[in-house]
Amino acid sequence: SNIIESHNLLKVYNPDTIPVNAVNGVNLQIEEGEFTALVGPSGSGKTTLLNLIGGLDYPTGGDVKIEGVDISKMSENKLIDFRLKNIGFVFQAYNLIPVLTASENVEFVMLLQKTPKREREQRAVQLLNEVGLQDKLNKRPSELSGGQQQRVAVARALASKPRFILADEPTANLDSKSTENLLEIMAKLNAEDKMTFIFSTHDQRVIDKARRVVTLVDGKIVSDVKR
Ligand code: ADP
Ligand code: ADP
Repeated sequence: SNIIESHNLLKVYNPDTIPVNAVNGVNLQIEEGEFTALVGPSGSGKTTLLNLIGGLDYPTGGDVKIEGVDISKMSENKLIDFRLKNIGFVFQAYNLIPVLTASENVEFVMLLQKTPKREREQRAVQLLNEVGLQDKLNKRPSELSGGQQQRVAVARALASKPRFILADEPTANLDSKSTENLLEIMAKLNAEDKMTFIFSTHDQRVIDKARRVVTLVDGKIVSDVKR
């Protein structure tokens, strides 16, 4: 069944000056358990589309449904709550809180959800274990490599038990070994836990690991291949 559905999705930046149709009529259905790469040239609308699907921004037209719930007309407060419960994010620049340790970064999401302390701690250990960082629990981001920081970001994205994870160029700042390692972890979470992933990328080795490749050009889907 579809976990994400967009219908005639449109995002126009600068509507009153020099309008840019960053996303221009996107109809996309993502099924539970898919492992999808979003590709296309720089400026084709990948980040904008991920932001709309993830409820980080509102569309100019059309809608986004997450498990049948239309998020495009939700109030901002409801949307913040909905995002926290349902969607995990991984960004290009890791976005970890510098003064918190790896496990505190992972726990932070659960703190917002008022998860009891003992459960938070246990789950953070378990998640950091899943991404191979069981020996880095008490390290701050500055003490970790880029690849390790991004694995903390994946553990953090999983902390709220989201329905799916959106990742915007997650390997952009990683060397090839860390890229391979991160992809392996994502693929394992997809295969074993049926976690749904959508990730934008320019990296052919990352694209090669995807089970579905959606290509954007000028804000439109020009190809959609499952394999
Ligand atoms: P990609 O992620 O594929 O590089 P983006 O979604 O970042 O593409 O950008 C799509 C288009 O929208 C580009 O032409 C970009 O310059 C424009 N754009 C993106 N964000 C904004 C913004 N906040 N204001 C104005 N234009 C923007
Ligand atoms: P990427 O290529 O990884 O998508 P960009 O460098 O295009 O990232 O965009 C980084 C940030 O700048 C995003 O938040 C995007 O919304 C914003 N942005 C991109 N293009 C424009 C633009 N033409 N005007 C204003 N903001 C923009």
